[in-house]
Parts: sequence; structure tokens; C-alpha cells
Amino acid sequence: MSASVLITGASGGIGQALARAFAQKGWGVGIHCHRGEEAARALTEELRRQGARAFCYQADVSREDQVGAMFAQAREDLGFLEVLVNNAGISWRGLLTDMTLSQWERVFAVNVTGAFLCCREALPEMIRQKRGCIVNISSMWGQQGASCEAAYSASKAALIGLTQALAREEGPSGIRVNCVAPGVIDTPMNGALSQEDLDALREETPLERVGSPEEVAQAVLSLVENPFITGQTLGVNGGFVI
Ligand code: NAD
Repeated sequence: MSASVLITGASGGIGQALARAFAQKGWGVGIHCHRGEEAARALTEELRRQGARAFCYQADVSREDQVGAMFAQAREDLGFLEVLVNNAGISWRGLLTDMTLSQWERVFAVNVTGAFLCCREALPEMIRQKRGCIVNISSMWGQQGASCEAAYSASKAALIGLTQALAREEGPSGIRVNCVAPGVIDTPMNGALSQEDLDALREETPLERVGSPEEVAQAVLSLVENPFITGQTLGVNGGFVI
């Protein structure tokens, strides 16, 4: 059986590109979704038609019971999950002073607690097998902070801390943990940005364009494939953060 990966948030822009990139390389793919079940099921069918082993799971990553059930089913379908990509994420835009406690908590529940719950499910079998790889999808805003995205920036910075700590904790067990910090990528997450905001971000980017989900997927694969890289945060941002 080929090696398997579980990708959270795989109904979205970057998640779909990740699923296609892993499937093209012959990986068995667990496609997790939350609200975008229709898109995730269509993607699963598309990959199966191309001969991939692909399975779809629906869960709220902030819910311990749902994450547990998803991993149990994924192990049954795909066997050992050698790679986990924590890609599910949400943003909240606005002034910190306008943010309610429940809005703040929701961002952390999905972006940080979700990654914690998935890592905790994935790790015991990786430790038993003495191999495995986790990639957390952070953001350049977690590296330098974005105005009007305080909770998002803080949650994405937390993912970098989680990555570094886990890389130290699990390195002796042969498990690598890395992070990818995308810049402005052309996905539905940026749909709420005005054309003016998008143009300003493009102008601030040395390569003068937004990135594609495929470029993020390529970076994730390169981290998975390199056996001596762990604890690192790889920027995929056209030079926005240097
Ligand atoms: P997207 O909105 O297209 O996808 C986000 C995914 O997360 C969706 O599949 C959604 O269903 C899932 N999700 C949301 N809430 C969830 C929950 N409670 N439980 C489970 N899944 C949930 O956005 P995208 O641009 O593809 O983002 C993917 C990741 O990349 C996110 O973590 C995002 O923060 C990060 N990122 C995106 C950009 C960008 O410019 N698009 C930049 C930096 C980082």
C-alpha cells in the first residue's frame, strides 16, 4: 500500500491543491472538510477517477470527538497516516476593540486547537512506527502581524511555536514537524478583500503578484520529501517577508 496523508480543510483553495499534488505523487489521500462537503466529495471522485486512493471526511477540527472519529475512519481506509497537513483555518477581520470573546475563541479553536487535536491523534502511531511528518499551514501574518487581523495573526504565530516545540519533542522519534507560511494566495479566503486592498498587497510584494495554491502545495511537498528539515517555517510569499 502507498503512503498516506491526511489534509485538513481540503475543500478550500490551498487544501484542494495539496490533495491533488499528493495524489499525483501516488499518495493515498484523506480529504477532510467541514462545511464544504460538496467540493470535497467532488475532489475525492476526481482523484479516484485518476486512480488515486482518496477518501473524504467531514469534521469540525475544533471538536475532540469529531477529530477522534475522523482519524479512526481514516486509519481504517488508508492505514498508517504518515503525513498530516494541518491546513484548516479561518480568519476574522476587524478592529480588536470590535471583536467579541466568542469570535476570538473561535479563531483559536479552529486554527490552534484544531491543529493540536489532529497532532495528538496522528502522533502515537507515528511514534510507534518511528517515522512521520506534520506540516502546519501558518501565514506570513503569523510572522509579522497584520493590522485588523490580531486574532488570526496570533493564532498563526502560535502554529509556528507549536511547530518548533513539537519538532524538538518528536525529533528523537524520527518525526519531523514543519510549517509553511503563505503570503497572499489566490483562494476564497481572500474573497473578502477589496480590489484596492489586493492591489496594495500585490504592490508590497517584491514579485508583484499573488501566489497560487499550487505553489503552496509544492512547498509542502518539498518539506515532506526532505528528510533533514524539521522545526522550520518556510515562507511562500513572493518576498513579502524577508
Ligand atoms: P479556504 O477558506 O479556501 O479554506 C479553509 C479551509 O478550512 C476550508 O476547507 C474550510 O472548510 C476549513 N475549515 C474552516 N473551519 C473549519 C472547522 N471548524 N473545522 C474544519 N475545517 C474548517 O482558505 P485557504 O486560503 O485555502 O486557506 C487554507 C489555509 O491556508 C488556512 O489555514 C489559511 O489560514 C492559510 N493561509 C491562507 C492564505 C491565503 O492568502 N489564502 C495565506 C496564508 C495562510
